[in-house]
Amino acid sequence: MSTQPSQPTRLKDKVAIVTGSSSGIGQAIAIRLASEGASVVVDFRSHPEGAEETRSKIESAGGKAIVVQADVSKIADTQNLVDQAYAQLHRCDILINNAGVEKNAPFCDVTEADYDQVLDVNLKGAFFLTQAFVRKLKAAHLPGRVLNISSVHEDMVFPNFSSYCASKGGMRMLMRNLAVELGPFGITVNNIAPGAISTPINKSLLEDKPKLNALLANIPLGRLGTTDDVAALTAFLASDEAAYITGSTYVVDGGLLRNYHEQ
Ligand code: NAP
Repeated sequence: MSTQPSQPTRLKDKVAIVTGSSSGIGQAIAIRLASEGASVVVDFRSHPEGAEETRSKIESAGGKAIVVQADVSKIADTQNLVDQAYAQLHRCDILINNAGVEKNAPFCDVTEADYDQVLDVNLKGAFFLTQAFVRKLKAAHLPGRVLNISSVHEDMVFPNFSSYCASKGGMRMLMRNLAVELGPFGITVNNIAPGAISTPINKSLLEDKPKLNALLANIPLGRLGTTDDVAALTAFLASDEAAYITGSTYVVDGGLLRNYHEQ
């Protein structure tokens, strides 16, 4: 699939925060938004080299990016992300809540530490970062865009990933609630729900051929998604072209959701 934006200046003069943009989907989104004209705050938690790679790809294509370390599960860090956007880039119009983790365990074996990590990163992090982002926009009477990278598992069962499903299901209701509450301020809120995308989060699946083939058999389009597949939709939803779109989830899954059978 082409990664070339059809409208390279669609996000001109905008500033976007992309959490977890040191890897995978977040990295592709950061690069795509920058290629369409946005200045990007590249966030990472533990891989500065990944964040620097994102920045370097953006800058070598003529875009602008800053790198900020922020663990989104810590409220002080989420506030700092927003503060750095305003301090270094002077505004912040778009928030992409992408950072996420998952833990594989049968329900009866899930530990409190693993549950807390998944919920704190995937849901609490998005909640309080959005709060910090929105407070600034409201104070300045400015519109904005919030996009959460949720998952088909905000809706679809995923045995042995109960904490992940709880976090993504929570993200679905958070998005719906905020769309209603923030609509009057011109702030739109939507979710993007990827299916199976080839990234490091899926390392064990990608290395397990029988499991991978069973999954591929469930995907009508017959392949895993790419990070660019997700980034292309994100750029559209972040743009002014999506000004009348709020309160929904947009699925990027090759048809998986309509055709899934647990093995
Ligand atoms: P990935 O390659 O593992 O990337 C995860 C990113 O999240 C990394 O940049 C990581 O940063 C960051 N991160 C993790 N914990 C963080 C924290 N506490 N604070 C800030 N950043 C943190 O995974 P991915 O596949 O791109 O996943 C991105 C999002 O897409 C996740 O929300 C995931 O649930 C969702 N998603 C993925 C798929 C898929 O098939 N890949 C499907 C559906 C939904 P560091 O590495 O620097 O720590």
